[in-house]
Amino acid sequence: MAISRRDAIKFSGLAAIAATTVSVHADSNGATTASKRVLLSPAPVPAAKGKRVVIVGGGPSGLTIAKYIKKGNPKVDVVLIDKRPVFMSGFISNLVVTGVLPLDFITHDFLEGARNGNYNFLQATVYDIDRTSKRVYTNEGSLKYDVLVLAPGIDYDYSKWSKGDIELENTLRTKFPGGFIPGSETLSLKSKIENLEDGSVFVQTVPGGNYRCLPGPYERSCLIADYMKRNKIKGKVIVLDENPNITIKADGFQSAFNKLYKDYITYMPSTNITSIDPHNQKITTELGEVINFTDAALYSRIRGNKLLEIAGVSKDSTFNKGEANIDPFTYQVIGDKNVFCAGDARPMGFSKSGNTANTEGKIVAANIVKYLNGENLSRANWKSPLTVCYSAVECDPLRAISVHAEYSYDDAKKSFGFANAGTMEKWEGAEGLAGGKGLKEWGNGLYRDLFA
Ligand SMILES: Cc1cc2nc3c(=O)[nH]c(=O)nc-3n(C[C@H](O)[C@H](O)[C@H](O)COP(=O)(O)OP(=O)(O)OC[C@H]3O[C@@H](n4cnc5c(N)ncnc54)[C@H](O)[C@@H]3O)c2cc1C
Repeated sequence: MAISRRDAIKFSGLAAIAATTVSVHADSNGATTASKRVLLSPAPVPAAKGKRVVIVGGGPSGLTIAKYIKKGNPKVDVVLIDKRPVFMSGFISNLVVTGVLPLDFITHDFLEGARNGNYNFLQATVYDIDRTSKRVYTNEGSLKYDVLVLAPGIDYDYSKWSKGDIELENTLRTKFPGGFIPGSETLSLKSKIENLEDGSVFVQTVPGGNYRCLPGPYERSCLIADYMKRNKIKGKVIVLDENPNITIKADGFQSAFNKLYKDYITYMPSTNITSIDPHNQKITTELGEVINFTDAALYSRIRGNKLLEIAGVSKDSTFNKGEANIDPFTYQVIGDKNVFCAGDARPMGFSKSGNTANTEGKIVAANIVKYLNGENLSRANWKSPLTVCYSAVECDPLRAISVHAEYSYDDAKKSFGFANAGTMEKWEGAEGLAGGKGLKEWGNGLYRDLFA
């Protein structure tokens, strides 16, 4: 493969990244390394048949964008890259970890999505992006793009708790994962819940900032309490909330805490954690309270995925560091219109949720098709994504509350706020039962849209 001068210069940086991740050793004449061969070799995808869009991240955002670009213009060549071998969703996972739904419900096949959507799927980890030569480097080789979409989601930001202590951060990640990046964390949480017994004290933290899935930690607290109740386990769930109040569907969750789980849930708002001792399983708060726990899901603050920093397209947003530096109306990176960022990595204060990423993905896909046709994108192309989010509060029978909202831009404040928003928080009556049915139907509908 011909290597441009730009690629050769780039390699000096890549080798440093690869040295920690790919085994580096000199070949027989000592002139090259395994990492150089792998990273600079062509990725195993067919040659582009038309303009190529490379999408990094096969979550609801990237999956939707891949499918709907092909629907918008089948001639566009689309490659979706994800490091995971199998898709597992965060949405609906609270019902899986508490044993209400099987693991199969949230586990899906990337290849099915690629076959049905008629795009290429590459299972690989993206290590670097050269926006000058428009090339993406993965552990399976590199590939060129005409348009790049970054939809890599979030990373945790433990700095508020760890204050740079890597050993502490690693122990927290391993022993008490937050459960908001699906995969092993989901499985860990499931076994933690299955191991609850009389006397268990389970801590669920709620971070500040615009964290992923606002209702998620409250829903999970209800469902763990419900699990204790159903299985006659005399335990407690302590919800340590950094926020002054329940951040969304507050009436619904508060009344579920009070009426259904009075003996199980202790809710502590405005709780700033000052230290965590993971070995003795103790949390100390700003007010000097000491909370002893037997197990926990310690959901830290979040940030934009570090890939955005690697690509040189991140900024510190109002809410979280490292989110995408994009024009909020077109999703194009400031100063590089060929790169779009979407999904939970966006800096706008939209709800970081699967439904938002899915409806937004359709808008972004339509805009990419227009852009590839030579159209200049502007604020006139902006449409609001739609957030629809159900949260289960009780399992047998399944009852759920919900929220739906669009967004509008406030020019004076230079930020987005909710528009046409509404909630359904009456879980006790027929509406709560309809919410439970709606939750499952919503989940199935979203999986169908992503993969079928
Ligand atoms: C417990 C829980 C409950 C939730 N409940 C709800 C709910 O009820 N309703 C709702 O709408 N949403 C819910 N969500 C939120 C929802 O799952 C997320 O908002 C959504 O997944 C965000 O989509 P995304 O595509 O932006 O990011 P992600 O889903 O995180 O996808 C990003 C993808 O990028 C890949 N990736 C990252 N870096 C690289 C790299 N360097 N190379 C290759 N691939 C890479 C990752 O493997 C991942 O597959 C919940 C989430 C959790 C965890």
